[in-house]
Amino acid sequence: MMTERVAVYPGTFDPITYGHIDIIKRGVRIFDKIIVAVANNMHKSPIFNVEERKNLIKNIISQDNIKNVDVDSFDGLLVDYLKQKNAKIIIRGLRVVTDFDYEFVYSMMNKKLYNEIETVFLMASEKYSFISSTLIKEVTKFGGDISSYSPGIVIEKLKEKYNKEANK
Ligand code: ADP
Repeated sequence: MMTERVAVYPGTFDPITYGHIDIIKRGVRIFDKIIVAVANNMHKSPIFNVEERKNLIKNIISQDNIKNVDVDSFDGLLVDYLKQKNAKIIIRGLRVVTDFDYEFVYSMMNKKLYNEIETVFLMASEKYSFISSTLIKEVTKFGGDISSYSPGIVIEKLKEKYNKEANK
């Protein structure tokens, strides 16, 4: 019996964008299953808590009817999470050159921690290559239109957050 090829796509996803969704859709064409793993221990202070980030991702996965994707979260070391899930592949997206430095070091370190792991990089699609969660948060905060960067439900929730903040 062939073993199932499970790949973990880790990230902050604060919040999910069309860029992330593109990587997920392309990922399931390569692997049998993708686990989107929302990181819980980031030093970045996220605007959405882990449950909210997971729920947004789940919503989009079912809305777009993307098959073979699980949505989960993890604390601590990514390699420990992979061991727990019996997965040996990490998927990451590469946008601009500046992503490379960080991703290079990160994949080296993961390899040192767990030699059987391979990190697979998918190049960002041209039309999403400049989209980041940080950018869409900033644009929304100042009232800009981000409807071509992230799905409607994400934008709605993001606006709610900033309206709440503004009324504090
Ligand atoms: P992290 O804080 O771990 O970088 P992110 O949520 O910002 O988490 O990103 C998760 C992964 O998705 C990273 O590998 C990142 O490079 C990739 N990614 C983010 N935005 C895009 C995009 N627009 N196109 C392709 N990959 C992307």
